[in-house]
Amino acid sequence: MGPIRLHDTRSGELRELVPGPGGRVGIYACGPTVYGRVHVGNARPFVVFSLLKRFLEHEGHVVTLVVNITDVNDKIYDAARPLGVPSAQLAAEMAAHYVADTGALRLGRPDAEPLASESIDGIVDLIAALIERGSAYAVDGDVYFRVRSDAGYGSLSNRAIDEMSQGENVEGADRKEDPLDFALWKAHKPGEDTAWQAPWGRGRPGWHIECSAMAEQLLGVGFEIHGGGNDLAFPHHENEAAQTRMGRGAELAQIWMHNGMLQLQGGTMGKSLGNAIRLHGVLDDVGRDALVMLFASAHYRGPMDFDDERLAEAGARVARIRDAARQLVAAPSPDDMRAHRDAFFAALAEDFNTSRALGALFEWIREANRRHEPVGNADLVEMLGVLGLENLLEADDAAGAEELELLDRRRAARGSKDWAAADAIRDELAARGWTVRDGPDGAELVRSAP
Ligand SMILES: [Zn+2]
Repeated sequence: MGPIRLHDTRSGELRELVPGPGGRVGIYACGPTVYGRVHVGNARPFVVFSLLKRFLEHEGHVVTLVVNITDVNDKIYDAARPLGVPSAQLAAEMAAHYVADTGALRLGRPDAEPLASESIDGIVDLIAALIERGSAYAVDGDVYFRVRSDAGYGSLSNRAIDEMSQGENVEGADRKEDPLDFALWKAHKPGEDTAWQAPWGRGRPGWHIECSAMAEQLLGVGFEIHGGGNDLAFPHHENEAAQTRMGRGAELAQIWMHNGMLQLQGGTMGKSLGNAIRLHGVLDDVGRDALVMLFASAHYRGPMDFDDERLAEAGARVARIRDAARQLVAAPSPDDMRAHRDAFFAALAEDFNTSRALGALFEWIREANRRHEPVGNADLVEMLGVLGLENLLEADDAAGAEELELLDRRRAARGSKDWAAADAIRDELAARGWTVRDGPDGAELVRSAP
């Protein structure tokens, strides 16, 4: 394994990843606030950091990936109120949807997915340390972070202190010593149906403090990589960094990695934008292979165009890999094709450039397609495994649950001599690429010839 360099927002440079003892690498990536179904844009950091974990494990590191779930937040109160449901119930439902929707990406779960509501003790402990050290103050049950107490404030997002606005609403403005200060704890207000007891009064945590507290609980202070969308660099990550710096006297993370945003191309989705960009809707439409391929096709740091055309291109790349895989044999790959495999991993080691890595992967496939003798697939297995696309190599000959259910219904239709229904189901299976073969042990499904 060679050195791995990643772009660090704080220094503005590529920095070498320095793992902890035993090759340990902790990654904390900010997850969703669960007030509605997740957007395909929320899936980008989920995919980027899940794939980064796969790559680092391939390089021999022992990775712990933490992705939090924000389940206490103004947005959740605001969404629950008109629905007439308790905010905790809405948050639990949307968190379950988030787990199912991201689960359908089939990239595995993060190693830990802490909930803010279950991390209150750690949050209270960190706020108490900040008050004790003079970097926070309680006013009427609220607690605010004293931004000007932190000489390093602004060093992550590279902003001058007087050019910053916390974007918090005006409520609380009269209680803050300085408009720059931000809330660590918010006193309970009428209309909010969750609150916890704290030394400075009943209330609930601010958004920024929960990440500092959960990250330190699960990864310790000074862990290797903190990630998230670049829209979070300021104020969220600036505030996370400040809280830990002042509360614990140490930097929260060594490298701050930020992924770019999705650019939705209006009007090209073919249906109303609201539903078309929900993660579950996109997965239903195009399947996980094309979506994972689309994310891998762009450099994580740049903006990513998201429209039907890009999805179709990603689907075509998936098909090219599947087509090539059918011609390969399970064996070591030829030595004289290894340069492409090495270029793939070199691209990932230089700021996790999955886009360039895919270029090398397709060079490998072009070369394999050119050869007359059978080519061993080992290199391709290794490369696709890191991208979470190793399934493209599997013979696509196992029927899914839906197909098996159709087969059961056909059997029932034939049992009741409803031949028309049985034929209709046979046609439906044929449209899905399956041929029904009636044998002595009953009917079975075989892949139709392409
Ligand atoms: Zn966060």
